[in-house]
Amino acid sequence: MPPHVMQSPSCGAEYWGKQTQDKVKYFDGVIIVGAGPSGLATAACLQAQGVRVLILEKAACIASLWQLKTYDRLHLHLPKQFCELPLFPFPADFPTYPARDQFVNYLQEYSSHFGLRPLFNHAVNQAEFDSRSGLWHVKTTAGCSVREFRARWLVVASGENAEPVVPVFKGVNEFEGKVFHSSAYRNGVAFEGKKVLVVGCGNTGMEIALDLANFGASPTLVVRSPTHILPREICGKSTFLVAMMLMKNLPVWLTDRLLVGYTYLTLGDTAKVGIPRPSEGPMLMKERTGKTPILDVGTFAAIKSGQVKVRPAVECLTPTGAQFEDGRREDFDAIILATGYRSNVPKWLKDDSKFFSEEGLPRQPFPHGWKGESGLYVAGLGRKGLLGASKDARSIALDIAAEISIADIPSLRLVPCQHEQHEQQQQQQRLLAD
Ligand SMILES: Cc1cc2nc3c(=O)[nH]c(=O)nc-3n(C[C@H](O)[C@H](O)[C@H](O)COP(=O)(O)OP(=O)(O)OC[C@H]3O[C@@H](n4cnc5c(N)ncnc54)[C@H](O)[C@@H]3O)c2cc1C
Repeated sequence: MPPHVMQSPSCGAEYWGKQTQDKVKYFDGVIIVGAGPSGLATAACLQAQGVRVLILEKAACIASLWQLKTYDRLHLHLPKQFCELPLFPFPADFPTYPARDQFVNYLQEYSSHFGLRPLFNHAVNQAEFDSRSGLWHVKTTAGCSVREFRARWLVVASGENAEPVVPVFKGVNEFEGKVFHSSAYRNGVAFEGKKVLVVGCGNTGMEIALDLANFGASPTLVVRSPTHILPREICGKSTFLVAMMLMKNLPVWLTDRLLVGYTYLTLGDTAKVGIPRPSEGPMLMKERTGKTPILDVGTFAAIKSGQVKVRPAVECLTPTGAQFEDGRREDFDAIILATGYRSNVPKWLKDDSKFFSEEGLPRQPFPHGWKGESGLYVAGLGRKGLLGASKDARSIALDIAAEISIADIPSLRLVPCQHEQHEQQQQQQRLLAD
């Protein structure tokens, strides 16, 4: 048996804090990288199966994306029934689209309900499977100290949005204003009366443009390629829900036609304001590429009324603004890059099995990309949002629990007291039922 077998039932920062002199530790359970919704959900499901978890999180808090990198007016893009994590429902009085702070509070309660205590400020910078010992070797940096944790199972839950994508425009060094990624945008207070260029028209770029307009700024939105905009609701029902219902009974192409036809009737021709539609329908595109259509929260009306301007791709930046693909030059005080995020998996995971693509996402499309080789698992990287993450979490927990019970290794299980055993049985039934 390797040394440093974990004694504490769940892995608290306090416990590890006392052992700073140990540089290499064996952990008798599952290591999870990331304490976002996917990591927390996986940890909760594993604990419900009586399996120990150690969550390594590079930030100083859970759900760092939601707490540190999102704007104030953000609400869940999808209705709450698609965003709840396993085994712990949203409060009954939550609105259909919970606000960012409500969602963060829920995640905090989720974490304390299951007694999850991630090791914060532990950025995983290397994870590698050692075939001789059959263990994953996971190295972290915490401040100046480097540590190594070893375990039989590794769950990658570091997120599709682990690091910002920042395009480098020609002339960026000459531009005299401020250029920053949307992850640093909170609200438009500082931009009142200012001309702001928002590059990127995903859900984030669209909403930030609207927010800026509401704060008295003059936003211009760069739309580089054809994009699907849909109303957030159809006849008072979430468009996403309607699309799901339609797809149960109709082929995707017909669902797409109905969605686009309805949008045409309600919003009008989006191409007329500079936002052409792709030839492929929105749900087909979502299935094929994972790209989510824009669910309009009011930006389109602001575009039509002229409050938000639309421009084509940026050719280059000038000292006072930008030049666009169509040759137009305009002045701007600031540029916000709503240009998305990418996975950081290729930077730290040694993936000999080529389970991951070059973009750091599983090659197998959802729902098949949650299990790799040699005890490697993945949660929340299937481009299916929180619903997909929850499904991954359940699959992972059941799979690892089954492996443990086949191998019958008592040391890998928590020893629950009687009432916990009863609760575990109930949770297992719920997991299987979901
Ligand atoms: C603005 C926005 C709105 C969204 N709205 C919705 C919505 O309404 N509904 C929906 O279903 N989905 C939504 N999503 C998509 C997705 O569900 C969220 O991004 C969600 O946070 C994903 O959870 P996650 O745990 O997989 O990743 P993250 O929330 O990104 O969490 C990953 C965690 O891993 C940590 N980490 C990363 N790398 C390392 C490392 N090397 N070592 C240690 N820790 C690491 C990060 O610090 C982070 O805390 C939205 C995304 C964004 C950006």
